Amino acid sequence: MNRKFNFSAGPCTLPLEVLEEAQAEFVDYHGAGMSLLEMSHRGAHFQAVADEAAALALEIFQAPDEFCVLFIQGGATLQFAMLPLNFLHTGQAGAYINSGAWAAGAIADGGAHGNVYTAWDGSADNYTRMPADAEIQLRDNTRYLHITTNETIGGIRFPDWPAVEVPLIGDVSSEYMARPVAWEKFDLVYGGAQKNLGPAGMAVVFARKSALQTGNRDIARYLRYDIHEAGGSMFNTPPVFAIYMFGKVLKWMKKHGGLAAMESRAASKSGALYAAIDGSGDYYRCPVERACRSHMNVVFRLPDEAREKKFLAEAEAAGLMNLKGHRSVGGCRASIYNAMPADGVAALVDFMADFQAANG
Ligand SMILES: *Cc1c(COP(=O)(O)O)cnc(C)c1O
Repeated sequence: MNRKFNFSAGPCTLPLEVLEEAQAEFVDYHGAGMSLLEMSHRGAHFQAVADEAAALALEIFQAPDEFCVLFIQGGATLQFAMLPLNFLHTGQAGAYINSGAWAAGAIADGGAHGNVYTAWDGSADNYTRMPADAEIQLRDNTRYLHITTNETIGGIRFPDWPAVEVPLIGDVSSEYMARPVAWEKFDLVYGGAQKNLGPAGMAVVFARKSALQTGNRDIARYLRYDIHEAGGSMFNTPPVFAIYMFGKVLKWMKKHGGLAAMESRAASKSGALYAAIDGSGDYYRCPVERACRSHMNVVFRLPDEAREKKFLAEAEAAGLMNLKGHRSVGGCRASIYNAMPADGVAALVDFMADFQAANG
């Protein structure tokens, strides 16, 4: 077997232990004579898988009792529409921080389904930082402030949670369970599973139960959070394989120290990469304001595009895959989610030094 180091922004690398466990029980699940994918989602086998995944999710993310966890198809993107549909009543507005491409998607879909406005716009700074509290301009009758806690493309994150008068809603897709959340500030936290938690195919949503009870009811049933909660995330056939793999990733996280360990590993892995960038005498450059540097998506440039192209090609030949920046911004990006081993980051740091020495 030749597993490469995969720095993809998502879908992304998963723990090898998890992949091997799933492989071993794939064809004949726990002696049932069939795979989990072939069983009723309401049978005992899958119900146990779903219950365990939900319980572990609440435990590992340290969500208080006022929160429930929901598994919803459509990824983080469908949440962009579900938020205003559920939460914005007549006369209310949703405020958004425009911190980059994903936030812009949430604003666009928010505007299609409700009254939304931009409370701070990072486009003037080319999305290289997050706002200070004093820069966030909220209007009257604002129901929530939506933040993208980590912008996957720009490689920026909120160093601290904003202190504002209204509940926060957070898209945490690309730093899911890599850092604790200040639950008291949030009504809802959501993200696609494929960045840190498992395969693509579902959003994991943590919601304050009391907020779901006051949501709009005059929308399609699948789009109502309260219906997903009442049905235990089985209002319709759930994404069984995604939930099963998610549960396995959570068990892996727990075994390897839980949220605190994930957070400190992310700090040290990203710290090693930023140190390599900052110590390169401006050969490698990170455009992000220091305090807002992401611990998950490390973006950097080389002196020119020709060397960036060469860097990416030689990195792949060395088994360091998917380091190309998002097509909208170019450059390089190393996504170092929870399952990226420290060895992968060390290999990249060594490669960067060798490349600079040969192409300075
Ligand atoms: C990837 C990503 C999304 C989109 O997720 P899907 O599950 O593909 O819909 C949304 N927000 C952020 C911050 C992301 O990184």
